[in-house]
Amino acid sequence: MSCYYSEVFKRRPSVAVNVGGVEVGGTAPVVVQSMTNTDTADVDATVAQVAALFNAGSEIVRITVDRDESAAAVPKIRERLERLGLDVPLVGDFHYIGHKLLADHPACAEALAKYRINPGNVGFGNKKDRQFAQIIEMAIQYDKPVRIGVNWGSLDQALLTHLMDENQKKGGALSAQEVLREAIVQSALLSAELAETIGLARDRIILSAKVSQVQDLIAVYTELARRSDHALHLGLTEAGMGSKGIVASSAALAIVMQQGIGDTIRISLTPEPGGDRTREVQVAQELLQVMGFRQFVPIVAACPGCGRTTSTVFQELAEKIQADLRRNMPVWRDKYPGVESLNVAVMGCIVNGPGESKHADIGISLPGTGESPAAPVFIDGRKTHTLRGDNIAGDFERLVVDYIETRFGGDSSAAQVNSR
Ligand code: SF4
Repeated sequence: MSCYYSEVFKRRPSVAVNVGGVEVGGTAPVVVQSMTNTDTADVDATVAQVAALFNAGSEIVRITVDRDESAAAVPKIRERLERLGLDVPLVGDFHYIGHKLLADHPACAEALAKYRINPGNVGFGNKKDRQFAQIIEMAIQYDKPVRIGVNWGSLDQALLTHLMDENQKKGGALSAQEVLREAIVQSALLSAELAETIGLARDRIILSAKVSQVQDLIAVYTELARRSDHALHLGLTEAGMGSKGIVASSAALAIVMQQGIGDTIRISLTPEPGGDRTREVQVAQELLQVMGFRQFVPIVAACPGCGRTTSTVFQELAEKIQADLRRNMPVWRDKYPGVESLNVAVMGCIVNGPGESKHADIGISLPGTGESPAAPVFIDGRKTHTLRGDNIAGDFERLVVDYIETRFGGDSSAAQVNSR
């Protein structure tokens, strides 16, 4: 896999699935995906958000297909994205009436790169298996992969009840929590088995089993991975807002991925009202990057600051450098191959500043309180400059850009930094 710790990191073998040109599983790197929160029937809003998510780095984007108007909008969204030159696979998220929407809207069935269905709500009673089969048959007809996505909030109640009864007959050997986890795992595996029986190829199936608690997620995915070789989509559902959502998702996914489990991830953050939906993509990329599985954007190491940093200069510089690097990446990724591996250090004072800066490709140690107003810059481990005056931040940014041009550029023209 494309992983810079690949010499020590072994991924669980899984069957590769092609999702609209993006490989998930097998030897492919862990894929980042996301989901819109627009009304899919609103073509303009959905195209804008899919474009934003894709440009932020989401390699696959899922959209809700909940009614006729949404299904009718899907081919229009696909066409608009293509006109914009955005080759992003779209996944349709279906609940309750997916079988009907796919049958009634063949252009939607064709435009989507994958169908996501939840075995807990494809239908109820004696309609369940029939409607599940209809969706699988549609996937076979249109040659699309399917994600069988179990969610504990809509778990197949008949299966859960059956397993609870079985457990009772055995004297209650398992706790209610253990039975619930087993029902989640079985729901995914039995549904995959049924899909294969209907005729969907093994390399057209991805599984997920989303829960909202970290320990449940670890237990469920460890078991799913042990009992199958299907490609697995990881995500903590209802992770929550802000730092809680980020911490919970990162803790759960990191532990599972460290065991080599997981072929694609989504960080399900609840955005602040009016907040930026692309945050979930950034968090997913940063999680994969800090774990050493993939590289997306140069990393800025910065100290936390302390009583030696009574001004905000170094915080502002660290934030600005990271933001500028991220903003420029869509252009730099092609212009400066390998630039995503760059390490930059921005440190607050002389205590750890020079040491940390020497370990980075390029680093600066800003003057702490009481230190002389000079900022040594280290490039490839050697002190090369000492910056002084009122524009230390600007001067350092210029040095970072020059370094990128020298190390990663193929020509001698100066890199154009999109700084604001
Ligand atoms: S490097 Fe200096 S400013 Fe930063 S945390 Fe350490 S002592 Fe404080």
